[in-house]
Amino acid sequence: MESRKRKIILSIVTVLMLGGIIWGSIFGIIQDIRIRKDSGEYLQAVLENCSVYQNTYTEAMPQTITHDVIRNFFRSGYDHGGKTPKLLYIGYDGCQAVIPALHFDNEFGAIKETASQGGLYFTIAGGQKKGGQNTSTAPGWAAMFTGVWGTENGVTGNTNVLNEKTRSIIYTLGEQGFVSSFSVSWSVHIKLTYKKEIVAAAKNGLPLTYRLNQSDDGTFASMRARIEAGDDAIFGILECTDHTGHQSGFSRSNPAYVHAFLYGEECASALIDTVKSRPTYDREDWLIIITSDHGGYGLSHGGITIMERLTFFSINKDLSSLLPFYQPVKI
Ligand SMILES: [Zn+2]
Repeated sequence: MESRKRKIILSIVTVLMLGGIIWGSIFGIIQDIRIRKDSGEYLQAVLENCSVYQNTYTEAMPQTITHDVIRNFFRSGYDHGGKTPKLLYIGYDGCQAVIPALHFDNEFGAIKETASQGGLYFTIAGGQKKGGQNTSTAPGWAAMFTGVWGTENGVTGNTNVLNEKTRSIIYTLGEQGFVSSFSVSWSVHIKLTYKKEIVAAAKNGLPLTYRLNQSDDGTFASMRARIEAGDDAIFGILECTDHTGHQSGFSRSNPAYVHAFLYGEECASALIDTVKSRPTYDREDWLIIITSDHGGYGLSHGGITIMERLTFFSINKDLSSLLPFYQPVKI
């Protein structure tokens, strides 16, 4: 009797397990088909609207170039035409690369303005090889700020602290005496990723200001104040696109996501106007960069889809004079 009972229980468990495996496989296959379809449609939208980009998505540069472009601009040998080098660096967190292409001619036009003087380029997040690192926020910005991927700088996820041997460009500009600031509203930047740098900057008396704000409005106000205060390099990251993507979808057909992008453009445009209205503007050579750390898919990011990996890099200077040697990324 006991063994019969055991047999029945064993049969039920086996059926349930098999059912789970089959359902899991079917779910995985459906998911795979959906991702493939969405990726195909996304690339189609990119191809149809990529004329504003200087490169093709298959020639996208690794996002790590950002660090060297800024470093090269501030190098003593770079020709500023006798003017003082200055930097305005604006990040749109979680903004897909297709969005600036679809809304290039928007009413605020910050990306259009910078790109018209330099160029708009496809860049790639998430490692040198597909799946090399998470398409997450901290790894994205850290790759751009240090010029190396998370395997080297230590930031492979949102819970890591940056290695002290791979300092960010914000820190190294400070070491060179350039008065610089970093304004954000995502607390992880200040409380975790760059916390060792922030301590070292204070200890070494570097001219660096770190501002953790309540919201993008605070980040905008903080960046504007730092431009007016005369900082040499102003770094700031707006969260509007990432927040909205998580709430209602990282998608070109989500009006809220597009609206969030336009808010970023409005802020960036006002910051560029603040730069231009500086009393010493005529004697300053401004490098302006607008870029994103990763894209998104559905309500999230972190994965390897083209919607998450493909990012944009807008610059108001001729990139060829600033671009370092780099390893092309495999799509
Ligand atoms: Zn996010």
